[in-house]
Amino acid sequence: EAKGKGRGTFEVFNDHMNSRLARRMMMERDLHEAISQGQLELYYQPLIACGSRRVVSVEALLRWNHPVQGLIMPEDFIPVAEESGLIVPIGSWVLEQACRQARLWSSLGDQDSPMTLSVNLSGRQLAQANLLDHIERILDQLSFDPREIRFGFEVTETVMMRDPASAAHTLARLRALGTYLSIDDFGTGYSSMAYLKHFPTDAIKIDRSFINDIAHDERDQAIVGAIVNLAMGLGIDVVGEGVETQAQADMLCSLGVDYIQGFLYATPMPVPAFEQWYHDWHDSQSAS
Ligand code: C2E
Ligand code: MG
Ligand code: MG
Ligand code: MG
Repeated sequence: EAKGKGRGTFEVFNDHMNSRLARRMMMERDLHEAISQGQLELYYQPLIACGSRRVVSVEALLRWNHPVQGLIMPEDFIPVAEESGLIVPIGSWVLEQACRQARLWSSLGDQDSPMTLSVNLSGRQLAQANLLDHIERILDQLSFDPREIRFGFEVTETVMMRDPASAAHTLARLRALGTYLSIDDFGTGYSSMAYLKHFPTDAIKIDRSFINDIAHDERDQAIVGAIVNLAMGLGIDVVGEGVETQAQADMLCSLGVDYIQGFLYATPMPVPAFEQWYHDWHDSQSAS
């Protein structure tokens, strides 16, 4: 359509490009400040066990409180952080912050089944040469009792795919540190089976796209059922992501999924709201 419309169209297109580029550059500039000005914040969302309905795990999800634009979601700034390399200092901040929080929450878990606190790792972070030393150092510095709380990492298939050999190596070393590894957004990348063969992992998080219609779509039920069987054979856990309705949760649990994460139980929340939610949840569980 742009063809044949001549100069006018080109200029509109150009303006569009320029404003996009300008927005990007502004965001990159602001992101530099976000770290030093304390504008980043971790929100936390629980994972609930199907059987016991216990809070088994918490995922840390990054938010940016922009002084002018307000709350910015990760999908809007993580790509910019990745491309600019700012994901490295941002990732360090996330790790340190989450570790500190893990130690504060270590008493929330119980001795028989420690709670896991997980953070997401992006491609550039995983490729970072000193990532492991850095993580080791943080875990050492803030040493907490691993029987009380465990640290976890979530990595998508797409991220692993970039440099499979080095990803496998890094993940194996991370796991050797005693951390809990999950494959995030499982089923959306290419050749998921290859990842299961080559990557050490503790859990699969089934992508929301298989969960949306799970209550009535028999194809989704068949796919999730097959993933559950696969995971059982491998001795790893299965998480259903993005669960919004009771019908979805019931179906997933009846198919053998271990843990449920989604708005049905809780949205990602800042620390005080999460702590309130946690106590309310605990009370309602012991009351029923
Ligand atoms: P993810 O790791 O797959 O996280 C799950 C996303 O689904 C989160 O979006 C969460 O808020 C959202 N979600 C949870 N339950 C529901 C639900 O019931 N319905 C719907 N519609 N959505 C639900 P969020 O927080 O916007 O994060 C998006 C992505 O950004 C994350 O996907 C993760 O890949 C990335 N991300 C978030 N925090 C970090 C971080 O600290 N570091 C890096 N590298 N990436 C991060
Ligand atoms: Mg995740
Ligand atoms: Mg996910
Ligand atoms: Mg995702």
